[in-house]
Amino acid sequence: MILHYSCPGCGAEMTYDIKKGKLHCNHCDREMELSEVEPWSGSGMTDSEILEGTEYHCPNCGGVMVSKDKGTSTLCAYCSAPMILADRLSGNRRPAKILPFHMDRQDAEEAFRKWCKNGRFAPKGFVSANNIQRLKGMYVPYWLFHFDAKVDVQARATNILVFMQGDYEVTETEIYNVHRAYNLQYQNIPYDGSSQLEDEEMAKLEPFNFDELRDFDMPYLAGFESSSYDFTDSELMPAVKEKVDKYVKDYAQGAVSGYTTVNIENRNIDFTREEDEFIFVPIWFVDYNYHGNVYKFMMNGQNGRIAGKPPVSQMKVNLWWGGISAVLFILCFIGSFFW
Ligand SMILES: [Zn+2]
Ligand SMILES: [Zn+2]
Repeated sequence: MILHYSCPGCGAEMTYDIKKGKLHCNHCDREMELSEVEPWSGSGMTDSEILEGTEYHCPNCGGVMVSKDKGTSTLCAYCSAPMILADRLSGNRRPAKILPFHMDRQDAEEAFRKWCKNGRFAPKGFVSANNIQRLKGMYVPYWLFHFDAKVDVQARATNILVFMQGDYEVTETEIYNVHRAYNLQYQNIPYDGSSQLEDEEMAKLEPFNFDELRDFDMPYLAGFESSSYDFTDSELMPAVKEKVDKYVKDYAQGAVSGYTTVNIENRNIDFTREEDEFIFVPIWFVDYNYHGNVYKFMMNGQNGRIAGKPPVSQMKVNLWWGGISAVLFILCFIGSFFW
C-alpha cells in the first residue's frame, strides 16, 4: 500500500516542507497542516513479507518499483513522486517518534561547503569545486533506551590526620563504614538499528536533541527516504547494557569521596528497563565527486554535524608543518637573546 498526498488544489504530489512543518505543493504553493491529513488505517505486513520484497506502483506515473530491503519511504525512480510504503510502517514497525529535519536541502549544501572550506587538509580543488553529486535526505532507524539504576555502595574509608603533640608526631586514623544509595535515571540512550550504517560514524553525528521528538506521523516522510530497523531492541540490548553498565560503574567508583582512602567492599547495581522506543532520526547523505572518486559523508539533519573523511592534500599537510617549524624557529631565535 502506497501512501501519497495529492494536493487538494491541483492534484500534484505534496511533500513535507521542513521550514514550514507542513505539507506543501510545489506546483500551486498550497499548504496543508499534518493534522488535516487523514490517518492511515491498514493491516500492515509481517516481517517475513517485508523480507520477501514487494512490487509497488507509483501512484503518479505508474512506474514499477521493487522494494527488497526494509525501505519504508522513497521517491519514484521515474518521476520523483514521494512514496510512503505504509504497510511496512505498522505494528511493531511503526516508529513511536520522529525527529524532524531542521536543515533543508539548501542549509545542508551550505553547511557542507562551509565544512569543506574549514577542512585543514583537503586539497584546494576539493574545497572550491562544486561537486555535490547527490544529496539525499533520509530518516534512519534508531532505538531509544531508558533505564533506572539503583546503585548501592558500601565502602570502608579512612581519614588520616597527622599532627604534633609536644615532641611527638601523632598519626590519627579515623575509620568509617560508608553506605551510599543512589537512584540514577538514564533517559534517551540512542543506538542505531541499521546494519548498513557504521556505529562509529553514526556516533560522530551525535548528539541529537531529543527534546524535539514528535509523535510519528506518515506525512513527515513525504519527500524523504526512510528505512526500518535491521536489529530489534532485544538484539541490541547486550551492547547497550554494556554502555550503561560502564556509566554506572564509573559513577559508583566516584560515589564515595572526601576521604584519604576508600576501599569499596560491596557494590550492587539494579537495573530497571523502561520500554524502548523505535524512532526515526534525520540524516543528509552527501555524495561528493572529486577527480572521479566519490566521497561519502553523512550530516546530522538537525544541527549540521558531519562525519566522513575528505581526501588529504599532501601539499597542505606540508604547509601546515612548515608553519609549525617556522614558529618554533622564531621562538628559539628569541630565546637565544636571553640565554
Ligand atoms: Zn497544488
Ligand atoms: Zn512515478
